[in-house]
Amino acid sequence: MIAEKLALLVKLQDIDSRIDAIRKVRGTLPDEVKDLEDEIAGYQTRISKFEAQIADFEQEIEDKKKVIKESEALIKKYEEQQMNVRNNREFDAITKEMELQQLEIQVAEKRIKEAYANIEAKKEEVEATKEKVKEREADLKAKKEELDSLLAESEAEEAKLEKERAKAAKAVEERLLLAYEKLRKNARNGLAVVSVQRNACGGCFNIVPPQRQVDIREKKKIIVCEHCGRILADVIAEPEAEKPKRRTSRKKKA
Ligand SMILES: [Zn+2]
Repeated sequence: MIAEKLALLVKLQDIDSRIDAIRKVRGTLPDEVKDLEDEIAGYQTRISKFEAQIADFEQEIEDKKKVIKESEALIKKYEEQQMNVRNNREFDAITKEMELQQLEIQVAEKRIKEAYANIEAKKEEVEATKEKVKEREADLKAKKEELDSLLAESEAEEAKLEKERAKAAKAVEERLLLAYEKLRKNARNGLAVVSVQRNACGGCFNIVPPQRQVDIREKKKIIVCEHCGRILADVIAEPEAEKPKRRTSRKKKA
């Protein structure tokens, strides 16, 4: 009974480890692609903002040019009026009006000059930002291609494993599955179910005492590593002596 439960856990662990391996190959690539996409979107927003500002400055130039034209027309009108004044008082009053309009023109010209300078500066910023977008887009294209080719290689395999995984998980008793998921979440290598290999836990590599190994082999209850808490499903037999076995092989004569 316990042996069956352990076998189901081992199967689940095996599928999960294979899925982990596939995802590990992709590594941080999906995140890098996402970051680049966000960065580019940020630059595009910045460019739109600069372009809106440029449009505002252009509108301001148009407005100020109109102001200048109006003032010039007024000055012309005042010049004609000055020809027909009846006294000095009227002449001076008109002169004052003319001076006012000249001042209007000066202010407007100053604003126009500033607006042109601002437009130049914004255009430079747009160009610099567009250059950055171009660079990032090249990065993005390369990374996307790499990711797509990795996905093309592994997508089908991963989908198949996910299906197997769902089935395998369903077979595991709920309480055990919960413990398994928790162990996996906390384990950096994603291993929740391991075997004892060379007298050590296959997850944390701490020694498992001989008596515990006997219990594990018996599979009468679920035994966990004293150090890391991972489920110890089995004991892998020590590889036979390192040196090749001296077999008393008699060469058969053909
Ligand atoms: Zn351990």
